[in-house]
Amino acid sequence: MDERAEERHRMVAEQIASRGIENAAVLDAMREVPRHLFVPGAEQRWAYDDGPLPIGHNQTISQPYIVALMTELARPAPTDRALEIGTGTGYQTAILARLVSHVYSIEIVEELSRQAAARLEALGIRNVTLRVGDGHAGWPEEAPFDIVLSAAAPEHVPPSLVEQLAPGGRLVIPAGPSHAQELLLMEKGENGGVSSRVVTAVRFVPLLHRR
Ligand code: SAH
Repeated sequence: MDERAEERHRMVAEQIASRGIENAAVLDAMREVPRHLFVPGAEQRWAYDDGPLPIGHNQTISQPYIVALMTELARPAPTDRALEIGTGTGYQTAILARLVSHVYSIEIVEELSRQAAARLEALGIRNVTLRVGDGHAGWPEEAPFDIVLSAAAPEHVPPSLVEQLAPGGRLVIPAGPSHAQELLLMEKGENGGVSSRVVTAVRFVPLLHRR
């Protein structure tokens, strides 16, 4: 399974550490999770390239650097419970699963969720719970979360996701119209106040509304 470990080490050195990601646990997770096993067969040879890749259903898996950046911004801790919106291939889910105690992940495309579940199972990743649905509502039955991370961009941050943050929780989410999205880091203080900062301009697939 590790015939591509060398490519992953190079990916981390050249695309991720070189751009300022410093969290050692995040860098280790990016070195260890076999990204090529999460992308469709035709894309596997490009799995460690410096860009997003198509995953079917008009969706994409994010560029490795963006996955690492969002994960670092979330400041994962071993006891954290995380909510992910947009399971996609399950790659970001697998990265988070190495760094927190449990990941709850919602995907709107049933087939993507099913495939992600099979991959995570095959890799022996058990501290994840997947569900098919519309992430706008979050996952109230399992809230609150220390981390909420969205891999798809709403025009405006859904209030449910902010509400479902625990005190001290971090929400990492791209938001805005498709031509002008920003990656936001929102934090809920211990007293419930919420701060927000713009990290960088980004381009994500839109957070879809359930039809
Ligand atoms: N994190 C993923 C990348 C997924 S791309 C990975 O590592 O592969 C964004 C994903 O969000 C897509 O799979 C898309 O189907 C999903 N998505 C879009 N709108 C959604 C919504 N409203 N609720 C849940 N998932 C959604």
